[in-house]
Amino acid sequence: MSGKRSVPPLSKLTRTSPLGVWVLVAIPTLLVLTCGILILIFRQSVFDVVIGLLLVLICIALGAGAAITLLGIHADRRLAELQIEFVSKVSHEFKTPLTSIRMFVETLRLGRVQDPSRIEYCLDVISKETDRLNTLISRLLSWGAMEAGAFHMDLEQKPAKELIELALRAFEPQVIANGAKLDVQLAEQLPMVDVDAAVMVDAILNLLNNALRYGGEDKQIRLDAQRRDDGGVAISVQDRGVGIDQKHQRRVFERFYRVDDSYHGKGGTGLGLAIARHVVIAHGGSIELKSEPGAGSTFTILLPAAAELREEAA
Ligand code: ADP
Repeated sequence: MSGKRSVPPLSKLTRTSPLGVWVLVAIPTLLVLTCGILILIFRQSVFDVVIGLLLVLICIALGAGAAITLLGIHADRRLAELQIEFVSKVSHEFKTPLTSIRMFVETLRLGRVQDPSRIEYCLDVISKETDRLNTLISRLLSWGAMEAGAFHMDLEQKPAKELIELALRAFEPQVIANGAKLDVQLAEQLPMVDVDAAVMVDAILNLLNNALRYGGEDKQIRLDAQRRDDGGVAISVQDRGVGIDQKHQRRVFERFYRVDDSYHGKGGTGLGLAIARHVVIAHGGSIELKSEPGAGSTFTILLPAAAELREEAA
């Protein structure tokens, strides 16, 4: 038979129906409950009371079991929906840079541009888009490892100042390429911290890259580091961009959450802040956000001082 035929969604084929659970559990439960109540009403001996009570208790247990099963089914469905959403978001994020890489490679291959500056421009785009794919893949790998509980950190004692400088050095090419203004204010006496430097530099870089990406036209970013009263360090990244409405402020730390999907194509996955928060917490710290729509955002990473220093202070 020719012609188009739509295929039912995969998740629907394997889905457990909540209706099935209700039919399987609710009808027998109601029948048993009715028996129990009737025995209790028309009881003739102590034995009837015991049987009646037992039947009612069995019904309560069955009802609770059904409720727990339904909650589990609901959680499974939500997870399946998230997975579908995730695959479509990630595919989209892969497709955009791949399309432009293919287009520019083809342009060069066919010799459509001869001007050396245009050739340089094409190569530059290819290189940036490749970097974007690389970041995306490492984010996904990190997230996969975290979800599987296979993400390990290699802690060492490091001056907080050195950590911040590593992040700033890695961010410098972005500042130059985008003509951003970066104002850095580091307090004199920053503590030592116990960190996996690569992981923490990545978390700080994520805040800096977001400040650039969502930081509006003037691209003014400020990085501030202070010693806290408890001996730890507060590293803040501030921008003067679009800001984040109160109702989204908690959610931006959730995996795959993005405030505005029109940001797609700006190269995000909605995983950066979720990973940053996860690793900061794993270091015994926390991450805070202060933001006002239209005025900008400040993300602050709070890290405790190295354990040795804390012991000395105690
Ligand atoms: P993404 O890869 O989408 O940037 P993140 O987890 O880093 O993922 O950020 C999640 C969402 O939080 C972003 O899509 C954006 O909507 C919002 N966001 C993050 N940083 C900022 C910022 N500095 N200003 C405004 N919105 C931001």
